[in-house]
Amino acid sequence: MVAGATVRVMSPEEISARAAGETAFLHWPERATFFAEREMRLRQLSRGHAMGDFLAFTADLAHAQQAQLQALQGVPIPDGRAIDEAARRGLPPLPASDWPRDPAWHRVLRALASDLQAHAPAGASPTLQRLANADEVFLERQADALLTGVMAGLDLASAPIVAGALQVYWTHMVLAVREHHQGQGQPFGRIDDETVCPCCGSRPTASITRTSGDSLGQRYLHCSLCGMQWHMVRIKCPHCLGTKSLSYHSLDAAEQSNDAEASAARAALATVQAEACDDCGHYLKMVHTDRDPFVEPVADDLASLTLDLLVSETGKQRTGVNLMLLFGEPEPPDASPHAGGD
Ligand SMILES: [Zn+2]
Ligand SMILES: [Zn+2]
Repeated sequence: MVAGATVRVMSPEEISARAAGETAFLHWPERATFFAEREMRLRQLSRGHAMGDFLAFTADLAHAQQAQLQALQGVPIPDGRAIDEAARRGLPPLPASDWPRDPAWHRVLRALASDLQAHAPAGASPTLQRLANADEVFLERQADALLTGVMAGLDLASAPIVAGALQVYWTHMVLAVREHHQGQGQPFGRIDDETVCPCCGSRPTASITRTSGDSLGQRYLHCSLCGMQWHMVRIKCPHCLGTKSLSYHSLDAAEQSNDAEASAARAALATVQAEACDDCGHYLKMVHTDRDPFVEPVADDLASLTLDLLVSETGKQRTGVNLMLLFGEPEPPDASPHAGGD
């Protein structure tokens, strides 16, 4: 736990939006606390949880990520012209799928693997060792697979740690762009596709609602890669943008009753919900800060996999991306039979 991790500082954008009575379009990750808050939430959720070991491992990873985010500096970022050009074309300036990655992220990865060695379960050691020694070709291929969603050739055992390094790298770049372009207007804004991150074009992990000032329960989508949160109105499908056929599901509601009305009432109060759309057949989870101030999209998503099982029984497809857990396999990285560090 980090002292002060629960203090949320408003960004200059949020302060000015609030003064103008508007909803800020972006909610920025904070360099000093971003992964520390995730770690704290993961530790809280891991106690007595069926997936407690995995959540605790992910908390250790978040702890290591926080140290790396605060140490990282000096990697190339888009200049003013590239930012303007992206804005003109309605595209994200730091696209996950084709941004030329600086080898700095390899150093982040090796540091994460070495930090994790200290507390890792015995089974995870071979994977961490392999990552510490992996060559650049292997690492770049893993990154390509993770960032483009083409899973062929992905080493599942090491994927959370590789993804953890890429998250640090992208979060750093987003923050570095803001630091570098301070006083020159907004470096990031709305892009043509409002279902993906306006900074890096990645899909969201989940929605998060927050109340600030007069704006009650505004919904933001949490980027699975860079951690930026962008605003989208409530009662709108974050996959197809349909507004007609949304329904909300939660675990408490499902467990307690066959009475549909009582069940819907309980679902309306749950900390973690699934927002499902009959138009496109997809769902995305939503976490609510006004029901629990410590919710964190990545952590709460990992800890609520039973909700995914429940909703998938209704035939809905998950759209949320959680790089800590691909393919829904709740296993810490251990000796996987097909894992090859070639
Ligand atoms: Zn992003
Ligand atoms: Zn939809």
